[in-house]
Amino acid sequence: MYLKHVSINGFKSFAKKSELEFSSPITAIVGPNGSGKSNVAESFRFVLGEQSAKGLRAKRGADLIFNGSESVSRGNKATVSIILDNTKRIFPYDFDEITLERTVYRDGKNEYVINGSKVLLKDVQELLSCANIGPTGHHIISQGEADRILSANSKERREMIEDALGLKVFQYKKNEAEKKLKKTRENIEKVQSLRREVAPHLKFLERQVKKIERSIKLREELVAVYSEYLKREDTYIAYHCDRLKLERQEPARKLEILKKQLIHAKEVLAESETDAKSKELVALEEQISTVRSERQTLLRKSGQLEGQVSFLERRIRQAQEKSRSESDAPVPIGEVKKVLSAIETQVDKALQSDDVAYLQRALSDVVHTFKKFIQNISGTATIDTSSEEEELKAIAEELRETEKDIADVSAKEESLTAQYNELKETIEAESKESREAEREVFRLVGEQRECENTLNRIDAELSALERDRQEFKRELQEAVTLIGSAASRYFGFQIVQDGKEVTTEEIALEDRSRQRQRQRELEKMKIRLEELGGVNEDIEKEYKEVKERDEFLIREIADLETSVEKLEKLIGELTDQLDEQFVTGIDKIGAEFNRFFTLMFGGGQAKLLRVKPKIKHKKKAQDEFGNEVEVQEEVEDQEAQEGIELQVKLPNKKVNGLDMLSGGERALTSIALIFAMSQINPPLFIILDETDAALDEANSRRYGDMIEALAQKSQLILITHNRETMSRAGILYGVTMAGDGVSKLLSVKFDEALAVAK
Ligand code: ATP
Repeated sequence: MYLKHVSINGFKSFAKKSELEFSSPITAIVGPNGSGKSNVAESFRFVLGEQSAKGLRAKRGADLIFNGSESVSRGNKATVSIILDNTKRIFPYDFDEITLERTVYRDGKNEYVINGSKVLLKDVQELLSCANIGPTGHHIISQGEADRILSANSKERREMIEDALGLKVFQYKKNEAEKKLKKTRENIEKVQSLRREVAPHLKFLERQVKKIERSIKLREELVAVYSEYLKREDTYIAYHCDRLKLERQEPARKLEILKKQLIHAKEVLAESETDAKSKELVALEEQISTVRSERQTLLRKSGQLEGQVSFLERRIRQAQEKSRSESDAPVPIGEVKKVLSAIETQVDKALQSDDVAYLQRALSDVVHTFKKFIQNISGTATIDTSSEEEELKAIAEELRETEKDIADVSAKEESLTAQYNELKETIEAESKESREAEREVFRLVGEQRECENTLNRIDAELSALERDRQEFKRELQEAVTLIGSAASRYFGFQIVQDGKEVTTEEIALEDRSRQRQRQRELEKMKIRLEELGGVNEDIEKEYKEVKERDEFLIREIADLETSVEKLEKLIGELTDQLDEQFVTGIDKIGAEFNRFFTLMFGGGQAKLLRVKPKIKHKKKAQDEFGNEVEVQEEVEDQEAQEGIELQVKLPNKKVNGLDMLSGGERALTSIALIFAMSQINPPLFIILDETDAALDEANSRRYGDMIEALAQKSQLILITHNRETMSRAGILYGVTMAGDGVSKLLSVKFDEALAVAK
């Protein structure tokens, strides 16, 4: 016996614990109307996991708990447990017995226990599906329910038959796979939406990181260009400074000597010539010397001013270049839209007016708005150089003044020199004796002038170099700000050209315009670097994190897609298996159905037909007047799963529709089908609740014979009032209900059973 024992406690009318042992293939439960027999059948449905309250004749979970009577108080919970034999390991548990227990509480909460361990409903269903005990309950036929299989629609009938064929395991697996597939697809959608959400941010970060990378690269390039520039500049300045200082020594020394010689020569001349002209000549000579030194001072000043002018001009040019590059910057579309909408509003207003003066005003307003917009966007791109320009103006003015002074002083020098030459000629003519001394003075003056010219040239070059040195220092400071300590290591930088290190002489003698070109290149790089912005480690870190997360999501989608593929394959296989086994199962049940049917009716014919469900379909047709009308027709839904229809023919009767059968004939037909279903894949047990109620004596006997045949394969529990059925049972239980409204179970003998049943 597979079903060994049932214990009902607090379930419906069974207020107290009642137990049944099933030691015979056929057990009959008898008792008067309303004593609680059907409650026993329902207790099986309950413990096997029935979820429909209606299937248990209740509205809610609490209706399943003993509700109390006048003398017995109501219970808080209902528990039913059954013991199933597992010596043949029908269930995948390594125990000889399986105890299944379900409890419902008043709040509707349910608890399931398998062999003492709390489990979920899903586990119970999975366990029972192994023994072909499915949820449609084809093995528990409630009172009046035998007819259910006849009144069900073709789809419901298919489900019952699938259940009976033991296809529920596949169906269950298929449903699980479909649920998983749905969930997986939802997950893919979720992950994809996560990716979509983060995509714009990732793109933004990507652009930022690319900018940072470009900035890093440009900075590296800048280090190299800067190092070469600084090294060349420093080398050039040092080399030429040394050279000029050396070059200056000789003329300076010579000038000192000449000055002394000239003082001496003048004294000699003064001694030889005491007349006024000679004194005038000496005075003139002194004036010339003063004016000349004044001119030198002015020349030096003008040199410095020129340096400042060129420095300021370069600063202004750089700023303008930068402005130019920024003026190419895109104007935000929002700004353009704003100005467009302002203009549209002005134009709309103007168009509504007929006043010409108003239109003119509106036109000038439009022009004004647009000019303001242009002014605004150009304003953002212009770098203010006004202070530099003002300074430049002042210095240029000073330079002009100085040049004017130089011209004045030069003119004065020229006029003094002319006076001097004139006087000298006069004196020469007048005094031949003093000529010697004079010649000496002239020679010395000439040589002194030559020396001074040389020194002036050298000094001018030195002061130009000094300006370069100041500029170099400023550049070095800027380099330190921009490229850090790498700037101060410029001197160790190796300048290589054509595979050879460039020598100090090559640097010093290079055309200066090349170095100016390098300087311009540097300025451009600095502007580009400023535009790119600095290195932001937070952005890089965030980009790495967001990117890693995105890659993780991509992998997740790939994994999920693989799962989808596998699940689709599994569902396909299960569907094929189900279809194949269903088709062969239907053929077998059909044959058995016909056998039981003909046996019960002593002839006739019964068939199972696989049909596609019908759907309503609208089509166009023509009425008798030829008008086009829409008509409805029923067509087979080719996409849908096949359902099952019954076709019966009674012997000697022209009855072939189920609706035309009498109550007893319907009962026999449904019993024939239920029995046929039980033959192909016999369930462990079958509970039949008054299935035999409508049978007359002759049919009751046939029913009894078939029950015995059925009991060969399945254990039977029969709730009956039928004497014939009782006579076939090995064990009889009586259910009684006394005035306390509580059902009681007791084992009875056949004669007692007959009495109890009444
Ligand atoms: P019949 O032979 O007429 O079909 P039966 O023996 O199958 O009768 P049941 O339908 O099993 O009788 O039992 C019905 C009885 O159970 C009723 O008296 C009903 O009041 C009682 N009952 C049902 N639910 C509860 C409940 N929650 N608490 C107490 N009694 C209940």
